[in-house]
Amino acid sequence: EKVNFIGFFQTVVERFEINQDDHINFERQLPDKEVQVWIDKDKMTQVLDNIISNAIKYSPEGGTIGFQLEINEHQQKLEVSISDEGVGIPKEKLEKVFERFYRVDKARARNLGGTGLGLAISREMIDAHGGEIWADSKEGKGTKVTFTLPLLKQYEGDEE
Ligand code: ATP
Ligand code: MG
Repeated sequence: EKVNFIGFFQTVVERFEINQDDHINFERQLPDKEVQVWIDKDKMTQVLDNIISNAIKYSPEGGTIGFQLEINEHQQKLEVSISDEGVGIPKEKLEKVFERFYRVDKARARNLGGTGLGLAISREMIDAHGGEIWADSKEGKGTKVTFTLPLLKQYEGDEE
């Protein structure tokens, strides 16, 4: 369905912000105009839930999670990124984390719970939406997960 991604995104982020009792700061950077995309809301909620719960899981106390929506006019894409100040992911593992059941540090990951499926499922869903998903990271400094979605033509009939 056709959705203004900003409102949808805010709702998902707020749900985490309200329910988390750890001391993590949420920082948003959002565009000031509407962003129309065509998404399956349930699937997109699952993707965001996966990425945000990872960010929370790997964040230190007092850490900041950044939520950013950026419009790439040239490529007619929306870029969604979620960054944290957690442990990070080693460079050579940045692609592997999107594989099924892959977890960077088995011992640590076991303590933190999970199956290693979240990002693999997220990639499948973003693929199905015609977008891309990847991770950037500096070990010990944090991780940023970004995905793109094709933008719908926004102001049809609005020629200037
Ligand atoms: P599940 O999502 O199935 O509950 P999971 O979180 O371990 O389990 P993924 O979400 O697929 O699985 O993530 C795969 C692995 O990538 C994680 O086990 C972790 O090692 C690493 N990872 C993912 N997100 C982050 C992050 N924000 N910071 C550090 N490591 C991360
Ligand atoms: Mg996960």
